[in-house]
Amino acid sequence: MSEPTLLDLTPDALGQALETLGHPAYRAQQVEAAVFHNLAASYDEITTLPVALRRNLAARIPFTVCDPVDFAESPDRETRKTLFRLFDGETIESVTMAYPDRFTACVSSQVGCAVGCPFCASGQGGWVRDLSPGEIVAQVLHAARAASAVGRRLTNVVYMGMGEPFSNYDAVLSSIRILNDPRALGLGARSFTLSTAGDVPGIRRLASESLQVNLAVSLHAGNDELRSSLIPLNRRYPLNALLEACRTYAKITHRRVTFEIALIDGVNDGRTHAVEVAERLRGLLCHVNLIPWNPVPHRRWRRSAAATVEAYQEVLTEAGITTTLRDSRGVEIQAGCGQLRSRHGAGGSGPVTG
Ligand code: SAH
Ligand code: SF4
Repeated sequence: MSEPTLLDLTPDALGQALETLGHPAYRAQQVEAAVFHNLAASYDEITTLPVALRRNLAARIPFTVCDPVDFAESPDRETRKTLFRLFDGETIESVTMAYPDRFTACVSSQVGCAVGCPFCASGQGGWVRDLSPGEIVAQVLHAARAASAVGRRLTNVVYMGMGEPFSNYDAVLSSIRILNDPRALGLGARSFTLSTAGDVPGIRRLASESLQVNLAVSLHAGNDELRSSLIPLNRRYPLNALLEACRTYAKITHRRVTFEIALIDGVNDGRTHAVEVAERLRGLLCHVNLIPWNPVPHRRWRRSAAATVEAYQEVLTEAGITTTLRDSRGVEIQAGCGQLRSRHGAGGSGPVTG
């Protein structure tokens, strides 16, 4: 959609747009309060505005189209994946995860992904299009409604759904600025995590934004040959350049960088692989998340066995690197994710998000 929709607009931009249409400043505040505090999902739900004004605004600044059309839930109902249909019929998925101490939304930044990692379902289908800021904000607001429905508040947003956030940098940053604005959702900068396959210019650009958001980097291997086979982007930005950019990020922002490692049986989960990673990360302010790989269609790989994951973790721990073993909640839902998209005629499914 070339024209901005409601959720594409920062509070300032909305104020200006309404002023141009001849409305007083308090109208923008009413819209912001309805959308970001009362979580109205359409103009019809903004009952603080007169009906005629709602109709007028809907015609001039359409509400962003991001309609939930299906969902899948983990058996404990704490992880829920939603399929959304966008204005042009494309579909994307987001996940909400309820933990005792936080409620997280995992959002998509693109329809499909151009990076083409062979272990990831999004990579298999290729890139279709970038999401607008509003389409990202809409996913987060949907998650905020889900939180509110169970008496919780949304606390975190992770850009780990479909797509490479740094390939859609401007829209992703705009979505963060909107969600971070106290006049909108008011989520603290530290509540956001951007995950990248290793886009070095993107990491450097983010470091210069003076925004305290968290950076997660998908590492998967500590040697260039293996990493290039898993993440084709590594050919353009090999490990030395990537880790240098991560060091700069940690230095400038004083934030720990998180490294994600999906462990695939017999591919990247050996002791030597763990040692290579430990050596690469020596001296870097970081944390490692280990995730047993989640099978995707057309790949005959298997996820690593629990004992192999533990042995890998031990090598990192002995090297003084803190690690977290991701639980399997996202994994259960991942099965549902493929089902969701194929049920609706789309190819592939989003990355694991547990
Ligand atoms: N494109 C970005 C963010 C989306 S992918 C990136 O690659 O970082 C989010 C995370 O899910 C990444 O760490 C990615 O490597 C991981 N991932 C993708 N497919 C997976 C799978 N099948 N099993 C486990 N992790 C997977
Ligand atoms: Fe794209 Fe990330 Fe999937 Fe790689 S892992 S194909 S970068 S979404």
